Amino acid sequence: MKIISYHQLTTQEGGLQVQKGMNFGVKKNYSIVLMSTAKNAPYVDEVFDDGVIEYEGHDAPKSTDYNKKMVDQPAYTKTGRLTENGKFLKAVDDFKKFKRNAAKIQVYRKIKPGVWVDMGFYELMDGYQRNDGNRNVFKFLLKPIFDFDSDGEDFQDIVHDRQIPGDVQREVYERDNGQCTQCGSTENLHFDHIIPFSKGGSSKTASNIQLLCAKHNLKKGAKFV
Ligand SMILES: [Zn+2]
Repeated sequence: MKIISYHQLTTQEGGLQVQKGMNFGVKKNYSIVLMSTAKNAPYVDEVFDDGVIEYEGHDAPKSTDYNKKMVDQPAYTKTGRLTENGKFLKAVDDFKKFKRNAAKIQVYRKIKPGVWVDMGFYELMDGYQRNDGNRNVFKFLLKPIFDFDSDGEDFQDIVHDRQIPGDVQREVYERDNGQCTQCGSTENLHFDHIIPFSKGGSSKTASNIQLLCAKHNLKKGAKFV
């Protein structure tokens, strides 16, 4: 899984300055979602063992009338237009009614300011409301779409790259000083399983994950085949 700068993210998206977390239909064939791994992140996103993301919807805009963390997340604006939550929900609804294919979503995860992980593409499979203890929030299920020919890696390992938790990614990035552990390069970095998942290595602990540049990642992939 590739690590990129915000500038690379923007370039990859054809110059689109992605700022908000949820960006429905901003590209011709897909939408864009941003996740954060900060400890004080405003939203609770979870990644399950099969790589499926449960992405939390977004709050009502700030207002002097209410605390946005105390009111239900809205599907409509005051003027009756769909919010981003509403747009995602409608796509789920239309998909369930066979009116469209599952919406394709590009996911990026911020591991620290200016450092992003390109999580790849997902399909929007479901959406629902849940009470989080003091209000209703939206939850959206994103199922990974796997690209079979990325980096010449074992397919199982590609699958398990998506399961490295955000806090583990952040820890590894800091520990390895944002550099390839083999050559010190800061370009084209990837998260690598030291012992591949297919050989019994874990995705959940930083001790089995390291940073490798594209060249060293490829070399290693070839060695383990
Ligand atoms: Zn390297």
